[in-house]
Amino acid sequence: MVHRKELQQLLAELKLKKTSQRALIWKALLDSKGHPSVEEIRDKLLKEGHRIGLATIYRTLKILLQSGFIRQSKIEGMARYEPLIKQPNHLHFICNICRSTVEFPSRRIENLIRQVTDEYEFDERYSGYVIFGICKACFRQQRKLEAFNEQQRLETTVVRDALELTLAIERRGYTFYTNASQKTKSSSGRRMFQRLAAEESDHLRRLQQEHRSLLEKNQ
Ligand SMILES: [Zn+2]
Repeated sequence: MVHRKELQQLLAELKLKKTSQRALIWKALLDSKGHPSVEEIRDKLLKEGHRIGLATIYRTLKILLQSGFIRQSKIEGMARYEPLIKQPNHLHFICNICRSTVEFPSRRIENLIRQVTDEYEFDERYSGYVIFGICKACFRQQRKLEAFNEQQRLETTVVRDALELTLAIERRGYTFYTNASQKTKSSSGRRMFQRLAAEESDHLRRLQQEHRSLLEKNQ
């Protein structure tokens, strides 16, 4: 029986892409075409410059076998091995916006999974975990867009307030000149006030138009 601690250690080595002997053996298995035997694995590693003893290879294959990572088959009386999965527990983030996928190693989650599977006496072989959401780049992009919209909104508010203030002033001017034109006794004075009132009325019309279109734009 392979000690659980040994398996955990191997998983960590594979995940951290350490160049431990066991990780190299696993990699050699992944890179092999077909079903290599123990000797073929040793020879392949030797060709790549790694001298690893048969005993170590046997021991590692045993762990991988018992953890369900590889399969052993007897072909013409010789034990041969092939990987069943490409990686230990897959942990992935997937962005809902750009669909990018990122693998993240987490010893804590793996430990938790082990704890839960132990609790339910379930012998886990392989599992995948996906967290959907929004990646950092997309999140930043969204925040930028929100900030831009908020800025636009504020600017519009300032323009609207200024327009409304000017409208009030123009209205008062119009009322003032209209009243003055009615009160004055001089006919030339009346004409002058009427002209001024007409000018204010013209300003008012244009300002009201601007005000309306501003409100419509922001609906
Ligand atoms: Zn994204």
